[in-house]
Amino acid sequence: MKKMENNHMQLIDPYNRHLKYLRISITDRCNLRCVYCMPGGGISKLRHEDILTYEEILRLTGIAADLGIDKIRLTGGEPLIRKGICDFIARITALAGIKDVSLTTNGIFLMEKLEKIKSAGMKRINISLDSLKRDRYKKITGLDGLENVLAGIEGARQSGFYPVKINMVVMEGLNDDEVLDFARLSLDHPYHVRFIEYMPIGTTNTDVLLHHVPSSSIKAKLAGLGRMVPIEKDTNDGPAERFRFEGAAGEIGFISPLTHHFCPTCNRLRLTSSGYLRPCLLSDQEEDLRGPMRSGASDRDLRDIFFKAAFNKPCTHHLTAESSTPLSTQMSTIGG
Ligand code: SAM
Ligand code: SF4
Repeated sequence: MKKMENNHMQLIDPYNRHLKYLRISITDRCNLRCVYCMPGGGISKLRHEDILTYEEILRLTGIAADLGIDKIRLTGGEPLIRKGICDFIARITALAGIKDVSLTTNGIFLMEKLEKIKSAGMKRINISLDSLKRDRYKKITGLDGLENVLAGIEGARQSGFYPVKINMVVMEGLNDDEVLDFARLSLDHPYHVRFIEYMPIGTTNTDVLLHHVPSSSIKAKLAGLGRMVPIEKDTNDGPAERFRFEGAAGEIGFISPLTHHFCPTCNRLRLTSSGYLRPCLLSDQEEDLRGPMRSGASDRDLRDIFFKAAFNKPCTHHLTAESSTPLSTQMSTIGG
């Protein structure tokens, strides 16, 4: 942590990473049961009173904004199933200092909420989709909902959201034969398709044996589709390595937490739905904000907890394909 010239305290960790991006899980509840995210034997839900209220999230986001956080992603669980989400989006996009608010959703309720989300000030959306085959989609998520998701994706594009990102977690033998079909989505439409390496983090359905597919193998499979032209990174870019097929309207990208760590440039903090601040997705170190906040902590006290989390942000994670590091907190509480 450091003082900047404008005398404003900013969140800069001991490795000189400037933390400007807060991912907020607004609920641990979800209408899907994706094999890579939810344990097979059912999930333990947080008690209603243990989930941060919208007011609490707004207060913490305001404090984060004073510390230089300017980019927010709303995630979950499934953010679109929380009551009042559209009004909440309108309030968070209006917070001083917040320049960019985006959403990660499974897309099931996207179509019906699109216009409200747009009017609330949201401009970009990430939609998770792991198969374009109806039966397989149901096998992966537990719900026969592919049509809803596809309608949501198309609707988002037509409503002018940009970019509309499609996130595919690629798993060996389960959906890796579809990577070409997903990449093709970027040819005629301005979709940004992201291939994500599956992370063995132990919150998954143990009935299914899952293996990641290295991004290098996906790239090799895609080579037949055309020349992949690298897209230069800009400062707002996340961890994706980006390409465009020559002449394509959209782009593709690879997020490779296992085979190509992006830890050195990680600028994120995560706020869990239970009100803990998590400096790294893959480390169980967390700082409690909810407890102190509900016991009357001042903004200054809460700000110190943000500093503590920044100070404790690990240099790198140690997850490998073989290690299957179990997280003590469910992915749906953390938000991915
Ligand atoms: N429900 C929303 C959705 O699915 O988009 C938001 C929450 S979800 C936890 C956020 C992201 O985490 C999704 O894109 C999902 O695919 C990803 N994810 C969950 N578990 C994962 C795992 N084990 N490996 C890689 N990505 C994972
Ligand atoms: Fe729900 Fe998203 Fe997890 Fe799937 S990945 S179970 S949609 S939280």
